[in-house]
Amino acid sequence: MAGEFMTLPNARRFALTDATLPAVLVKGFSGPAREGLIQADIVIADGRIERILPAGAAPAEIVKADMRGGMAWPCFVDMHTHLDKAHFWDRRPNPDGTFMGALENVRADRIANWSAEDIRARFEFSLKSAYAHGTRLIRTHLDSIPPQPDISFPLFAELREEWKDRIALQAVALLPLECVLEPAIFDGIVATTKRYGGLLGGATRILPDFERILDTLFRAAADNGLDVDLHADETEDRQVLTLEAIAEAKLRNRFEGSVTVGHCCSLARQDEETARRVIGKVAEAGISVVSLPMCNMYLQDRHAGATPRWRGVTLFHELTAAGVKTAVASDNTRDPFYAYGDMDPVEVFREAVRILHLDHPLDTSARVVTATPAEILGRPEIGVIAEGAPADLVLFSARRWSEFLSRPQADRIVMRNGMGIDRRLPDYRDLDPLMEK
Ligand SMILES: [Zn+2]
Repeated sequence: MAGEFMTLPNARRFALTDATLPAVLVKGFSGPAREGLIQADIVIADGRIERILPAGAAPAEIVKADMRGGMAWPCFVDMHTHLDKAHFWDRRPNPDGTFMGALENVRADRIANWSAEDIRARFEFSLKSAYAHGTRLIRTHLDSIPPQPDISFPLFAELREEWKDRIALQAVALLPLECVLEPAIFDGIVATTKRYGGLLGGATRILPDFERILDTLFRAAADNGLDVDLHADETEDRQVLTLEAIAEAKLRNRFEGSVTVGHCCSLARQDEETARRVIGKVAEAGISVVSLPMCNMYLQDRHAGATPRWRGVTLFHELTAAGVKTAVASDNTRDPFYAYGDMDPVEVFREAVRILHLDHPLDTSARVVTATPAEILGRPEIGVIAEGAPADLVLFSARRWSEFLSRPQADRIVMRNGMGIDRRLPDYRDLDPLMEK
């Protein structure tokens, strides 16, 4: 493609030579690392990675594409998104950028506009962008206030099937947690979630009977073989710390499924002792944490006329050090919760490095948009570079971290099954008919 930094050979078997790989993402090969980066030649045959060899060791007779030190990454994983909400900013923006403004305007737009046709157009726009940027696996939350699940889940199942060779999709029912104690509503949502192979989720806040809500939720998940993915404590309010209750509930119910929590912003507002205690329980419960740095920076500490004084993100380093699986993801894209975004994990990574200080050293940071979210999502074969795996790679002209993190990497090549894909992004004009509503 025009604008890309090199041309891939049109051959059944070829080698990417002198490539730079983040060592933390390479299985079964290692070499001397500098800032976590190693040099290698990658032999590709029939769409698969045949061999990973020391740089310069590719067989003499093979067709070669010289990377000249450029980085090769596995395809990306975006483990927390909202593709049912995406891309309606122009018809219903957030007038003041606050969390309340987001809630109110998403609600109004959902009631007015969220037919299967409307969601499909915006969801697919996101998938096309994500695919062009190099993403291979996405988990989305789906607003699940009845009757929306009956519209969104069947549509999701159709899209999961249509896109299965390009992007693997998972969906979480984002339900209003107060309805968990109303069997007439909750049982229906659980049944729909199970029918379409989803997960149970919701946004926690301080609610009467919160422990009973969590127990009921975990019991329903266990009874139906469903995993759980919750939005937790997306607030600067210190009084709100549901993360501890979630960890206790998982332990109390001996829940054996996978539990993920997103945001956990208010954890960063606690005193040291409280933070340490809660992190210990999260680690003990084996709960994974995904941080959404771009959305948190946008929504948290926003007060009219005032400059924000904190970054909004959770205690990422402390959770990681305690043995908690941690990752970062996009979250919202061009909706009232976040005015921007393009489903580009390179942007998410670049911003995460800056907001969360994932640098100095950067040695293992590449895992946060690749290997770790793939593991959390139960797809550990994705997000790594390994012999025998499909040649699903993202190739960059950038050779070192400072080069990688200083430009948007718009000239990257996305390789799927050993072949470069068309990386053209969808045109915003395609969404114009939806914005006239
Ligand atoms: Zn979210």
